[in-house]
Amino acid sequence: MSLAEQMDTVTAAAAGTVDRHATTETFESTNPATGAVVGVFPVHDAAAVRETVERARPAAQRWAELGYDGRRQRLAAYRGYLARRMHELADLVHRENGKPHADAILEITLAIDHLSWAGAHARKTLGPRRVRAGVLAANHAAYLEYQPLGVVGVIGPWNYPVFTPMGSIAYALAAGNAVVFKPSEYTPAVGAWLAAAWRAAVPDVADAFQVVTGSGETGAALCRAGVGKLAFTGSAPTGRRVMAACAETLTPVLMELGGKDAMIVDDDADVAAAADAAVWGSMSNAGQTCIGIERVYATAPVYDRFVAEVTERVRGLRPGSDDEAAYGPMTMASQAEVVKRHLDDATSSGGRAVLGGTLEGAFVSPTVLLDVPESSSAVREETFGPTITITRVADAEEALERTNASSYGLAGAVFSRSRTRAMDLARRMRSGMTSVNSVLTFASIPALPFGGVGESGFGRIHGEDGLKEFTRAKAITRQRYALPVNLMSFTRPPAAADAVARVMGVVHGRHR
Ligand code: NAD
Repeated sequence: MSLAEQMDTVTAAAAGTVDRHATTETFESTNPATGAVVGVFPVHDAAAVRETVERARPAAQRWAELGYDGRRQRLAAYRGYLARRMHELADLVHRENGKPHADAILEITLAIDHLSWAGAHARKTLGPRRVRAGVLAANHAAYLEYQPLGVVGVIGPWNYPVFTPMGSIAYALAAGNAVVFKPSEYTPAVGAWLAAAWRAAVPDVADAFQVVTGSGETGAALCRAGVGKLAFTGSAPTGRRVMAACAETLTPVLMELGGKDAMIVDDDADVAAAADAAVWGSMSNAGQTCIGIERVYATAPVYDRFVAEVTERVRGLRPGSDDEAAYGPMTMASQAEVVKRHLDDATSSGGRAVLGGTLEGAFVSPTVLLDVPESSSAVREETFGPTITITRVADAEEALERTNASSYGLAGAVFSRSRTRAMDLARRMRSGMTSVNSVLTFASIPALPFGGVGESGFGRIHGEDGLKEFTRAKAITRQRYALPVNLMSFTRPPAAADAVARVMGVVHGRHR
């Protein structure tokens, strides 16, 4: 099949309108459950990526000049377009990523809500405001505003191919930037669909959101293409490579990396609710969730009940590709190998799988692991599969200590009926986000910032912090009237500095 024919297939099958540039090399994305080809995409090389970024520059200028109202209106048109075609997009996500259609609808819903919030809150968060000038500059007016960076590069993963990149794309666009997005090589059709949807919904500034496709080399080219910032979401090892490439041009980076999130179940927890949340948090999306629950620390008084409640629920889960399946296949075949390695390590080091522990092709059975030592890779490394370790601890303090003894620090959950106790544990959890008596909830609250600590990365998407992340703060002062004595002038009288020192002594000198 010729390239042109392949591209026509892509357009029909995946609604992708990825610019081919002069690129002739292509790659396929496939359905992880069946192996069927979903689409064929160009591998954009460094020249093609640079060309795309250069095309985005004038679009960034036009997009910025539209102002907050003009951008808000167009972001609304975009989310309207997505909302009217949710099933079409969800079907594509199901085919390319493997997750159930209903879960795809859920992630698209979240993305639409974030688009709405970002558009509505950009002016208030970023717009020009006056700040107090203070006594030393009382004759000046002081202004602060947050200006866009120009073209922002976004590199995304495959596990939530709509929601995750949109956490950067929506906020970068709302802040007045153009975006060039490199979706994962496992979900390029979804990325291409999102960009095609933008072109259709916002035709007057179509180049403000473009997509380039390819694997790591295309991503690395985007890092080197002169973008104002690079927002990366993916694994910690790749994050290091992205930072190294961006360091060559001092391109600032946002790092949304992996996690090994824990749930703490305290003595007074609603055990059934905790079990229900733990099963969803660990098994939904086949466990391929950066903020998924991978470890549970349950205190001795509730441990047995919790294990019983979890196993009863997990017994009812079935992976598959049909509408009734609880979750789909591993999107990336190589991830099944990682899961297998962690399961083998857990069982060979003294742990036991009370349920699951088997792989059939791309499908991993829902797995509950008990008595796994803390040194095991199943406890220390990101597994990214439908597995959970449950560990008995003496009390919530021990649970917190073990939770925090991780190089990752993305999110986590606490279950307790005591509000004070739960809030205290949540505050002391070394993570960017914690849910009390639920899991993952912070991701669905657009006003809350999203991001991690340690090997889970730095910087924030979502919320006001997420908007500011894609801007530079600009400070302006305007002299309102001249003072008789200007301290920052060679014309100042010799005694002026002594007078200032005396005033400082009176105002601040009394503090000890
Ligand atoms: P990955 O690191 O393998 O790939 C992520 C992206 O980086 C892909 O688009 C890939 O093509 C690109 N890439 C690879 N090498 C590159 C290079 N040298 N330079 C530039 N780009 C390069 O991650 P993945 O397997 O796609 O995603 C899973 C990971 O993402 C997990 O670790 C998960 O926890 C994490 N994740 C984090 C968040 C978050 O918000 N913190 C959200 C979702 C997923």
